[in-house]
Amino acid sequence: MVLEKSFAEKEQAYNPYQVAVEQLERVAEIMKLDPSIVEILKHPKRVVTVAIPVRMDDGTVRVFVGYRSQHNDALGPFKGGVRFHPNVTLDEVKALSMWMTWKCAVAGLPYGGGKGGVVVDPHKLSKAELERLSRGYFSAIANVVGPYQDIPAPDVYTDAQVMSWFMDEYSKIKGYNVFGVVTGKPVAIGGSLGRDTATARGLSFVVEEAAKKLRINLKESSVAIQGYGNAGSYTHMFLEKLGAKVVAVSDSKGGIYSAQGLSYKDVMEHKKKTGSVVGFKGAKTITNDELLTLDVDILVPAALENQITQNNAAKVKARLVVEAANGPTTPEADDILYSEGVTVIPDILANSGGVTTSYLEWVQNIQGYYWSAEKVDETLKEMMVRAFRAVWETTQKYSVDMRKGAYIYAVGRVVEAMKLRGWI
Ligand code: NAD
Repeated sequence: MVLEKSFAEKEQAYNPYQVAVEQLERVAEIMKLDPSIVEILKHPKRVVTVAIPVRMDDGTVRVFVGYRSQHNDALGPFKGGVRFHPNVTLDEVKALSMWMTWKCAVAGLPYGGGKGGVVVDPHKLSKAELERLSRGYFSAIANVVGPYQDIPAPDVYTDAQVMSWFMDEYSKIKGYNVFGVVTGKPVAIGGSLGRDTATARGLSFVVEEAAKKLRINLKESSVAIQGYGNAGSYTHMFLEKLGAKVVAVSDSKGGIYSAQGLSYKDVMEHKKKTGSVVGFKGAKTITNDELLTLDVDILVPAALENQITQNNAAKVKARLVVEAANGPTTPEADDILYSEGVTVIPDILANSGGVTTSYLEWVQNIQGYYWSAEKVDETLKEMMVRAFRAVWETTQKYSVDMRKGAYIYAVGRVVEAMKLRGWI
């Protein structure tokens, strides 16, 4: 009989912080980094654990545990989301804060990496309880965050409303408005135009650049997209605008395929009406596993982590895999894809349009001057193209896959800043 592994055993088997440290060590070896630098980079600069008492609607008090991990701020203030999820652990938050350091560095942002989390299932709270928890968490970490210190943002199960409460709570503590303390706010209170579509728009700029390098004619190329939420559905819209034919898309209920191509407008209308892409008229139903191994030019995983693994990597037929999702490819699958000549644009580059537009939101907040949507998009394009070219050059220089290239470039930027500042 096969017994289900206990949560603790699973945690032991997959500890995201250990994974993050191992990734760093591998890159450090290629870069021949001084071991003392690696030692510093392994540890977040500061980790805060807070207990948040919340009065529940029935009058009782529950105490929730929250974290904020600030990994490295050599390049600028810490930046990264806050997640509200029952499975949040300190090691997860520490790992995510390290990954944010690399993502911000790849994107060329003047930021370091941070991440926060509260152990809670927000779906089990009323709106008033959620507001009290959000305010409680932010006031508990208020002395370590700020527009020049650490700038949180939305992540899993936190949204623009939660950011509004964070910003309001911090402003109350300070006694004046501090819009730039968080990003991902609604446009009415300091949010940026273009934030909703930023991740997919940024990804489409990167695809355009990669297509030029790999001599892929986007107007004659076919695309499959796994996941049809914010990242996946807007990716459909932007790649269609570039002339590519999106032949397959999927969500948690399954996938659809049409050799003639799927229209973004029609699929979106169907999804709004029925709650899923499945059942779209004229398309064949396929499974998510089938979608990943379709004979297409470009594959965009835009749903969950660990989708392309050692079990299916050799069957991937796409020439280009663009990671809209975080962590969709396992390290074993990375090696297989590389040996098969498949180019993978890694998550920290491909989906960095979101954090880049967060940066543009913060820039507008501290200037007190708000840009048109066109100016936001134009600046995003400039920054994404610059990031792509830097990663591409590093990848060529070291003869590695693009994920390693992105890490080498990112770690290099952070280490240079640490050295110049005299930290090592
Ligand atoms: P979302 O919640 O809006 O959408 C997720 C989509 O994935 C949904 O369509 C859901 O049905 C689908 N899905 C869930 N399980 C699935 C399965 N087993 N097979 C196929 N599809 C499945 O989330 P999102 O914001 O689009 O984020 C998707 C991924 O992109 C995540 O990894 C996220 O971390 C990453 N990402 C998103 C952003 C952003 O700005 N939205 C930025 C950076 C990275």
